[in-house]
Amino acid sequence: MNTPLVPASTFINGGDFGYARDDGTPTWVALEQLMGRLEGGTALAFASGMAAVAAVFELLPVGAHIVWPDDCYQGVAGVVTAGERQGRWTSRRIPVADTVQWVDAAASADLIWIESPSNPLLSIADLPAIASASRRTGSILAVDNTLATPLNQRPLAVGADISMTSATKFIGGHSDLLCGITVCGDDELATRIAEVRLLHGATPGNLEAYLAVRGLRTLSLRMERAQANAVDLAARLVDHPAVGSVRYPGMPAHPQHELAARLLDGFGTIVSFDVNGGARAADSFLSQVRLIVHATSFGSVESTIERRSAIPGQEHLPAGLVRMNVGIEDVEDLWRDLDQALAV
Ligand code: PLP
Repeated sequence: MNTPLVPASTFINGGDFGYARDDGTPTWVALEQLMGRLEGGTALAFASGMAAVAAVFELLPVGAHIVWPDDCYQGVAGVVTAGERQGRWTSRRIPVADTVQWVDAAASADLIWIESPSNPLLSIADLPAIASASRRTGSILAVDNTLATPLNQRPLAVGADISMTSATKFIGGHSDLLCGITVCGDDELATRIAEVRLLHGATPGNLEAYLAVRGLRTLSLRMERAQANAVDLAARLVDHPAVGSVRYPGMPAHPQHELAARLLDGFGTIVSFDVNGGARAADSFLSQVRLIVHATSFGSVESTIERRSAIPGQEHLPAGLVRMNVGIEDVEDLWRDLDQALAV
């Protein structure tokens, strides 16, 4: 029933596998095959989401131009700004939802990097429109699909070249592994990324790959429950007097709700909202949650919450903005916890 967990670096000559960093192992190849089928391309597994991100940027020649979003994972921002400081490339940031700017910028871009839905502001990019612009100009379009998961969005099917996922999040789903995935529609591009992975040794652990495969078995059930909880909680938060704006692509009031409904098969499990009263009020709220875990990251079975502008590099965000990853708990338990913590 289960994918074997094969903890081997070296295999006896004459079989499908030789040395794990070159050829993989049966466990991580199983993960790649599953992710490849879900995303519709050739998947490569990495030691972490960031290892997968770095492998994509490593494809770029010196002097390349990168176009990337104003809202994305801060680790990606770290890669772009460090490379820019070192004179490896130039870059331009564009608001996630500003399709006209993305389409214009495609003409001069070697790499277009997009995260949609974006994290933590949950903006939606018009991927098909941007993909057709990038096809015309020949730039590489890479999409961070971590928040959507392959169940809600398959970037390659709408014209992206690379779909990247931090499998640490929803794929694993239990806060117990680090793993990253790239999926490419074009085998030549996949081969180039595999070369980077080989040279850098950024390969996944076998236990992590095994756990990620096991996580995939319940991904759809977890997403279904957590998304239903998120829809419900977002609607209740809107009416709460201690809460300002609520960001969730599933709400009709979200500025790109129609686009989200067109592009996504589900609106995700992350709800970001402003606690009235700024940083102090938000921190006091976070100190009162009991069931919801005050912790970073997302995508797991348990609900987690944090104030994003408290994270180094995220100071530009609204001071009272909290990002909640809604888990699979009973929604009434979650609401009781939010309501009592907001009342303090
Ligand atoms: N992309 C997104 C959207 C993320 O949220 C993260 C991690 O938080 C990453 C990439 C990096 O993944 P990892 O932590 O597995 O290296």
